[in-house]
Amino acid sequence: MTLRLYDTKSRELKPVATPNGVTSMYCCGPTVYRDAHVGNLRTFLLADLISRALTLSGVAVTLVQNITDVGHMSEDFQEDDKILTQASIEKIDPFEIARKYEGNFHKDLARLNIRPANLYPKASESIEMMQSMIAELIKKDAAYVGSDGSVYFDVHSSKSYGELSGNRLDALKPGHKHETSEDSAKKFHADWALWKAAGNRSQMVWPSPWGLGFPGWHIECSAMSLKLLNSHVDVHVGGIDLRFPHHENERAQSNAITGNESVDIWVHGEHLLFEGRKMSKSSGNVLLIQDVIDRGIDPIALRLCLLENRYRSQMDLTWKSIEAAHELLLRWRGKISVWAIEEGLQDTTEIDPEIESAIENDLDTPKILLRLRAIEKSELKNKRVLFMYADQILGLQLDAGVKEKTLTAQMKDLLEARSIARNEKRWADSDQLRVKLEELGLIIKDTPEGQTWS
Ligand code: AMP
Ligand code: ZN
Repeated sequence: MTLRLYDTKSRELKPVATPNGVTSMYCCGPTVYRDAHVGNLRTFLLADLISRALTLSGVAVTLVQNITDVGHMSEDFQEDDKILTQASIEKIDPFEIARKYEGNFHKDLARLNIRPANLYPKASESIEMMQSMIAELIKKDAAYVGSDGSVYFDVHSSKSYGELSGNRLDALKPGHKHETSEDSAKKFHADWALWKAAGNRSQMVWPSPWGLGFPGWHIECSAMSLKLLNSHVDVHVGGIDLRFPHHENERAQSNAITGNESVDIWVHGEHLLFEGRKMSKSSGNVLLIQDVIDRGIDPIALRLCLLENRYRSQMDLTWKSIEAAHELLLRWRGKISVWAIEEGLQDTTEIDPEIESAIENDLDTPKILLRLRAIEKSELKNKRVLFMYADQILGLQLDAGVKEKTLTAQMKDLLEARSIARNEKRWADSDQLRVKLEELGLIIKDTPEGQTWS
């Protein structure tokens, strides 16, 4: 199997490089000033899918995902650091804020069955790494110290700036971002800060060759990806909003350091909407995994719901679609328990060519799910084996069975109705209800103590 992914820069599908059987991956991680919403998690799930697909094809993966706990400035909060702003709202130390939400991030990944990355470097613990890269950039004439003591990247030093996002330098207008206070200190309006002078800020600042200050956000990803992945990234993942300026700037910095194209494939996940609107904290339209759990829905149903859409298309998540995915998940888990009995627990690692080619072709998860629906209805005698083959990518824990707490309201109603029908000796009704329950994936048995299910 050769995995091909859509590369934002060349705008075409490219085979993933596997030098010496290992692919190096970098995924932009969370800014830990709040819980990750389901939109953020859709992007983290994308990295998991790529990593699972490569693992399935026998390739080893080294995945680095950074934790941004300093330096991510916000438009919403008038140019304040997101972590510091949240620390003053919650009235606790900024590092405590960062550790709290970092812990929640790992918990949420586990709830979605997203496998952990190999490394989770924190920005606040990688200051030296960033400073040494900034010093290198100054030495290479790609960066300079501005009149305010901050260090800026000289965008004109990057001849191919704009190739990733399509934003040409001469078309960029001053004031595009929230950098007006820096404008007089920079040589050119589109230059950006690599190291910011502390100014009035007293928390989360570090000494440096350029005075007390803190790192910019873009340099964080260049430093961590190149220093931790041996100066080259085979696959770089992030949400589509990061294409510009974050990744465009990261590419300029990284290429200036390595002298060549430092990232082979730039993969961008499209955005998730919720009930028709953009999911963002500022618009108050945010869905968390906890909200899903609070409705009695298995978070893996959310994973299934996200997989119903290709990562490259914008997706509108609704409660209705999450609930439908929950029904489907329980039905499949139930049927797999039945097939385990009917077909036996053969331990063959059979490959379904249709599923394999859907994976290879830029992770076409909707097509995989369509194929599973067809297998479910077919007369095949190895349904369980094929479902479990697909589950190595899907990660839906399809052999988990059905547990009491995961029964849907519909299943509970049908079980209750059947129990009443049996007490009232309405055997035809009881049989009809059994058929309906079996369609939902439950196995019903009648015992002297009443009906049981599994
Ligand atoms: P942040 O914590 O804001 O730095 O974002 C973490 C990741 O989530 C980045 O890769 C973003 O591009 C991505 N992201 C943010 N909002 C959404 C969304 N609504 N849908 C999908 N990905 C998103
Ligand atoms: Zn990044």
